[in-house]
Amino acid sequence: MEEMGSWKRTSYCTEVGKTDVGKTVCLMGWVNSYRDHGGVIFIDLRDRAGLVQVVFNPTFAASAHDKANLLRNEWVIAVSGEVRPRPADMVNPKLRTGAIEVWVKEMRILNRSAATPFAIEDEAKINEELRLKYRYLDLRRPEMQKKIICRHRVVKLIRDHFDTNGFYEIETPFLAKSTPEGARDYLIPSRISPGKFYALPQSPQLFKQILMVAGFDRYFQVVRCMRDEDLRADRQPEFTQLDVEMSFPQPEDIYELIEGVLARIWKEILGIEIPRPFPKLSWDEAMSKYGCDKPDTRYELFLQDLSDIFPNSEYRFFKQALADGGIIKGMNAPGCAEWSRKDTDDLTYALKAYGAKGLTAMRLQDSGLAGPVVKYLSADEQNKMLERLSAKKGDLILIMGDKFAVTNEAMNQLRQMIARKMNIIPEHKYNFLWVVDFPLFDWSENEKRWKSTHHPFTMPRAEDLDKLEFDPGKIKALAYDIVLNGVEIGGGSIRIHRPDIQERVFHALGISDEEAKIKFGFLLDAFKYGAPPHGGIALGIDRLMQIVVGGTSIRDVIPFPKTQAGADLMVDAPSEVSEDQLKELHLEVTKEDLT
Ligand code: ASP
Repeated sequence: MEEMGSWKRTSYCTEVGKTDVGKTVCLMGWVNSYRDHGGVIFIDLRDRAGLVQVVFNPTFAASAHDKANLLRNEWVIAVSGEVRPRPADMVNPKLRTGAIEVWVKEMRILNRSAATPFAIEDEAKINEELRLKYRYLDLRRPEMQKKIICRHRVVKLIRDHFDTNGFYEIETPFLAKSTPEGARDYLIPSRISPGKFYALPQSPQLFKQILMVAGFDRYFQVVRCMRDEDLRADRQPEFTQLDVEMSFPQPEDIYELIEGVLARIWKEILGIEIPRPFPKLSWDEAMSKYGCDKPDTRYELFLQDLSDIFPNSEYRFFKQALADGGIIKGMNAPGCAEWSRKDTDDLTYALKAYGAKGLTAMRLQDSGLAGPVVKYLSADEQNKMLERLSAKKGDLILIMGDKFAVTNEAMNQLRQMIARKMNIIPEHKYNFLWVVDFPLFDWSENEKRWKSTHHPFTMPRAEDLDKLEFDPGKIKALAYDIVLNGVEIGGGSIRIHRPDIQERVFHALGISDEEAKIKFGFLLDAFKYGAPPHGGIALGIDRLMQIVVGGTSIRDVIPFPKTQAGADLMVDAPSEVSEDQLKELHLEVTKEDLT
């Protein structure tokens, strides 16, 4: 192996072009591939910019050629050589540097590489565990480099956009106290204060509100947040958020700001003009038409509430659902009457995972409405149902009834399944949407109490304030989510800045004065000293990036992600710690925990 010595790289591999013909360049990088063509050795040299062909010709530079015989894939080399045009029949139009090659005069072998566990190429089908264990090799693949570099560009653009709009990026602590975002906290034991713990931030929520009290007026931060949740495919225990807060805002100011930054990302990174302003949909309408608060509006399949049609139905499932205080919803899959019984059985089976007890399928055929349930429905019910669903001959009608939440969730999933099966989801379409007018509270059946839909600092709509003590379920919040193609990419709200309203909201949530003081006393104190009206939002950068790069996994846009089990396979975390460390932290691991 040799040293770089005083060698200085003159450019990245792909910066060498036709205009450099005749010049001497010095390049450094990895051996991407190696071909020996009758004594002349061709190497594709790779760096972060891409590939260039370097040539070791024994008659041009004998000693460099001799050394080249030793090279293997992924060895690190420095070459100094002359740029030459490729012979016409050797030009590779697929490669940026395909018109030239570098004839090596001198080479230095800077490092060797063991045989890699997988090939460093985009096409390689590699098991994900292996990719995560050898992340440094996985990240060497051009496709991954592209994604991570794209992330840098997006984050830089975000920073520029907020800076231009008068926002300051201000850091907030990681070792802090619980922020109520609805997830479990990651706790850090304090060595110096036995029995006490910090909480890693689920978001900088309370700090950003404090920054408004402090008078900074416009804050943003690209910040890591941690939530100890059971992981789903699109979740990571730590994730990056674009966190924003501003003083004296109208919700429209937040919409404009966020639409502005997203439009710039789409234009400057993807070259796509996205229409603004983004459409707005109330939570009530979203639930009614789509059964969810983050609908994919790229395709036109809508749910319809049929509850009013079936109050006296002879079909016992419909009757029962309504008698139990539930709802009945239906949807029309146009032109799908020919789907087989097995197709609809498969859908019914898939919906079980979402709590659906059954799904009623009917087909509108030439001979009329067909299906095992039809005989229980009166002519009037059938007509009203068909009209409501705008059903035509050849359509498939799917109906279910259950509690509000179960029906909506199952029908929302059904809508997505049908769209996939009908193959009507356009690929390169970006439907941004604001969902607004969320309920302030959700009723938790388990805990038998109201819980915040967003978090307890969300301002109720002014006209709903007097419902706080009497009808909390009817209160709408000044809260908004931003949705893209059925993915919630962010959410926020106008905050409560008045201590009296905050107190009433805590009461409605069953949070006692004492508990509020222990948990958020500092915020309540701060509110006593002239807190300005304020509001903000946070966008999930990982999810956003996944959509920007068109990736299938959120893990592809995070340099060092964790598995579904929350493990970092490269560094082997989480891992055990020594008895001494535990002792210092005043902790003990019980035997039961280890079994
Ligand atoms: N703190 C919220 C979140 O992390 C966002 C916000 O309300 O600004 O989801």
